[in-house]
Amino acid sequence: MKNPKCRMEDQLAFCWKKSIWLYLFLLPSALFIWSAASLKLGVISFTMTFFIVCIGHSVGLHRGIIHKSYNSKRWFRNLTAYLFVQTGLGSPLAWLKLHYTRDYWQNRKDCPGYFQYHHSLITDYFWNLHLHYQPKSLDPFSIPEEDLKDPWLNWLDKTWYLHVLGLNACIWLLFGFEAMIMCGAVRISSTLLGHWFIGYMTHKYGYSHFKVKEADVSGKNNWFLGIVSFGEGYHNNHHAHPQSAKFGLKWFEIDFGWYFILLFKKLGWIKNVKEAGKDRTLKKKATVHKIHWAFPSFRF
Ligand SMILES: [Zn+2]
Ligand SMILES: [Zn+2]
Repeated sequence: MKNPKCRMEDQLAFCWKKSIWLYLFLLPSALFIWSAASLKLGVISFTMTFFIVCIGHSVGLHRGIIHKSYNSKRWFRNLTAYLFVQTGLGSPLAWLKLHYTRDYWQNRKDCPGYFQYHHSLITDYFWNLHLHYQPKSLDPFSIPEEDLKDPWLNWLDKTWYLHVLGLNACIWLLFGFEAMIMCGAVRISSTLLGHWFIGYMTHKYGYSHFKVKEADVSGKNNWFLGIVSFGEGYHNNHHAHPQSAKFGLKWFEIDFGWYFILLFKKLGWIKNVKEAGKDRTLKKKATVHKIHWAFPSFRF
């Protein structure tokens, strides 16, 4: 196997905590979904996923806190970071650091294999969901000091798993075991697997209009995954316009995260929303080209 690190001083190691966290939700889901599933619990679980992942992950942490594609009041920023915690994906601060690290490497030609997506889906399942990438220093990645020192993000960094386990315990106590399986375990394991799968697919397959010069990875747009991931699946648009709050740029690229952003702007909770096409959000090194498709190849 090719060395997935490019610098020997960085660490890439099996992470027990990360692996246990995944199977803590995945195994009970696989075992009990058959007996716990009902239409009512399915609808509640889906609705919780929709609001928590869309507002907490896509609108809040990704577009708001990491890319600063709009300005918000402090309570809005903190609430969306808290919602992110309840996705079960982990610490918002750890994801922020990883995002800056990954962006830095993907925009260079000497990108480590771990961030390159030249490997198979099975390899990525192991790498992405079981390994931990720890750079020796965060200095090259230009992470804003205000984020690294943000007291709320630092508190959530230390306590995030307690909030997730606490909500699961409350659901179990108040609404029963089946409700905890459907609205806790199934919701969180689907989010963990969905987040990993969409991340893999939208770096490899789909259509693209932009190429980022001197970058190893420019991302792909995927219409169906774009819809179910609240806009995150229009990943070529995002690589080219990282500061745009709008990910879906064509009329058919349905972007639920963007619709929430418009609503929150109307309510006065956020302002100075940056929008591709209206504001200058195109990366300097990005060029526009004719549509290009990348399909999966099936080898027998
Ligand atoms: Zn991003
Ligand atoms: Zn990417």
